[in-house]
Amino acid sequence: MLSEFDLIKQYFARPLPGRAALGIGDDCALLAPSAGMQTAISSDMLVEGRHFFAGEDAQRLGHKSLAVNLSDLAAMGARPVAFTLALALPAAERAWLEGFSRGLFALADLHGCELIGGDTTKGPLNICITVFGEVAPGRALRRSAARPGDDIWVSGTLGDARLALAGYLGELALPAEQLAAAGTRMHTPTPRVALGALLAERSLAHAAIDISDGLVGDLGHILEKSRVGATLNADALPAGPVLATQPQALRRAFTAAGGDDYEICFTAPASRREAILAAAAECGTPVTRIGRIEDAAGLRWTDASGAPLALELSSFDHFST
Ligand code: ADP
Ligand code: MG
Repeated sequence: MLSEFDLIKQYFARPLPGRAALGIGDDCALLAPSAGMQTAISSDMLVEGRHFFAGEDAQRLGHKSLAVNLSDLAAMGARPVAFTLALALPAAERAWLEGFSRGLFALADLHGCELIGGDTTKGPLNICITVFGEVAPGRALRRSAARPGDDIWVSGTLGDARLALAGYLGELALPAEQLAAAGTRMHTPTPRVALGALLAERSLAHAAIDISDGLVGDLGHILEKSRVGATLNADALPAGPVLATQPQALRRAFTAAGGDDYEICFTAPASRREAILAAAAECGTPVTRIGRIEDAAGLRWTDASGAPLALELSSFDHFST
């Protein structure tokens, strides 16, 4: 049997000459902020049966647990520095711990984000990560900063994760390769860290949010906090490659209100269009202009021709289902 301390030592403590002044092994970690920078902090919890199915592959889970947290830093325009990991595990299984830590550290190393501490306990599988990032004062991309006249942009593509969920739940029959391809988007999302950081560092965007519960709901948070409204072009929403092969009604529903995309939705003045496209090309993350911020409250839709559309869509809410 693995003891709690062996488990931490074998799978989570790594001898890294990292950023932290003191890492795993004492009562607290010590982290020295870079001179003149603000610390951006965010936590996200993944609960078995709620955020992932029981029996989910451990390596993918390791990736996703950190990815959803890095996505929050990205949406703020902060660069990742370190994270903590609080883990409740039903049993200390070596195969699970190896897979989980492999997925976790592969993504952490990609972003130079160091594991500096955490907590480990026995219990129903539950993974809670807190990330620490850095952003220059005044540069963070806040939800409250959208202005009338701003373009609305989204990174990457939307809806494939929701399509995979529909496949797994049997809401839709999808061929096996399509389900596997869409499933990759659901299980191993790519946090848009480089794009978010460039948008903030170059003052290209006003407001931003990461899309975890669906575009409509998440953009809704920007509209509410910024006290503005918006018009979106339903035909401009970039569908994921698998969703793109599906009928229009499904494409519209899942790009607008699917969950688990972990793309960034941001608003920016029209004068920044070229600089935004250049930044996006620099970090290899496509971006698409999907609408415009307006004075009048509420969300309106048009089709590609600009004709008004009546779309009734809502995002996922943990307490409404
Ligand atoms: P405490 O008794 O103060 O809660 P623990 O015995 O739980 O400390 O943890 C010992 C050390 O191991 C601490 O530095 C803690 O941050 C770290 N640690 C515990 N669990 C994890 C984990 N899952 N990942 C990374 N570090 C961990
Ligand atoms: Mg502890």
